[in-house]
Amino acid sequence: MIYADNAATTKMSETARQAMLPYLDGIYGNPSSIHRMGQQAKAALEDARTRIAGILHCQSREILFTSGGSESDNQAIRSAARLGAADGKRHIVTSAFEHHAVLHTMQKLEQEGFEVTFLPVPEDGVLALRQLEEAIREDTCLVSIMFANNEIGTVQPVREIGRICREHGVLFHTDAVQAAGHVPIDVKEMNIDLLSLSAHKFHGPKGAGVLYARRGVRLSNLIEGGAQERNLRAGTENLAAICGMAAALEEAAAKMEEDAAHTAALRDRIIEGLEKIPRGILNGDRRRRLPGIVNFCFEGIEGETLLLLLDERGICASSGSACTSGSLEASHVLLALGRSRSLAYGSLRLSLCALNTEEEAEQLIGAVTECVRRLREESPGWHDRMEGRIPFELKQG
Ligand SMILES: *Cc1c(COP(=O)(O)O)cnc(C)c1O
Repeated sequence: MIYADNAATTKMSETARQAMLPYLDGIYGNPSSIHRMGQQAKAALEDARTRIAGILHCQSREILFTSGGSESDNQAIRSAARLGAADGKRHIVTSAFEHHAVLHTMQKLEQEGFEVTFLPVPEDGVLALRQLEEAIREDTCLVSIMFANNEIGTVQPVREIGRICREHGVLFHTDAVQAAGHVPIDVKEMNIDLLSLSAHKFHGPKGAGVLYARRGVRLSNLIEGGAQERNLRAGTENLAAICGMAAALEEAAAKMEEDAAHTAALRDRIIEGLEKIPRGILNGDRRRRLPGIVNFCFEGIEGETLLLLLDERGICASSGSACTSGSLEASHVLLALGRSRSLAYGSLRLSLCALNTEEEAEQLIGAVTECVRRLREESPGWHDRMEGRIPFELKQG
């Protein structure tokens, strides 16, 4: 089997697993309990917080533990919206290619009377700073722009976005779920006010995440109940997962340069190989992208069918976000880039990590090339194109 779906989730590392074990076995106390086992758990929780804060370059009191990326995104956006509304500011700026955890929250806020500007996405998948700056108004309370896109992998100019937001006195949230553990993040230097990350995207366990909130940015609760997380997130902490997350983030940070170099070399080899398939196109800028993500559209094929063929060959891949696969909707990310609906249906995302090998990269190139050829041979629409009855959408090559 070749696993090339690391943007959906990653294999948990042995380091993360080992870090979790004590809290799945012997130390099962509740961090809120007075007794010694509770206090041991509490110490582990605060140790995890301190270590994560160190990696993001913030203070430990600025780290809030959540259940993952979706919850962090929801809480960050809802908190900023509430702060804005209290100040008479009901306008938010985001982009058209955010993750659904952001987009759907924005749509809810629109129904609640907020006005949201969805910035258009240039064809290269990197947002234009001028357009962002022009979208900010007197009544803007929040800018939420993802650090790196989960479908096409493009990395946004976060530092500059943070600077613009700071200059205009607007809060800046970034969904860094794809970036954390993969590219360097310094929340202070990048002027980030709110940041979301999720452990299972960097070889940690599922069900643990972080919301970084700069000191002075008041959060509001999504979940009411006990006084955990300084009264901001009720519920007994998922301690084993939180300890696994801290270990995974530290490990990812320590190996970042080496892993990124290895993964980016595989990525570039795959891009080079897949570009030889006629009538295909790479989605997103060639250089300003995460080390692990490759996304292509191939004219005249159905992405879902391609995935099934690849699966038969033991290859785990995706057509884009896990949320859109299984439904017959074209990816909102590819449509935002300006791809046609029919081209967007023919997308393939291969997302790699340091565990993938050069041999696997060659096998991926071979299998995708072969499967695309086979699907086209079997497609009447492709024959219509080949015989000139329908024009091609993409140029050769
Ligand atoms: C995976 C992902 C999320 C959701 O994270 P969960 O921990 O699965 O809730 C949010 N944003 C992006 C960019 C993601 O890739």
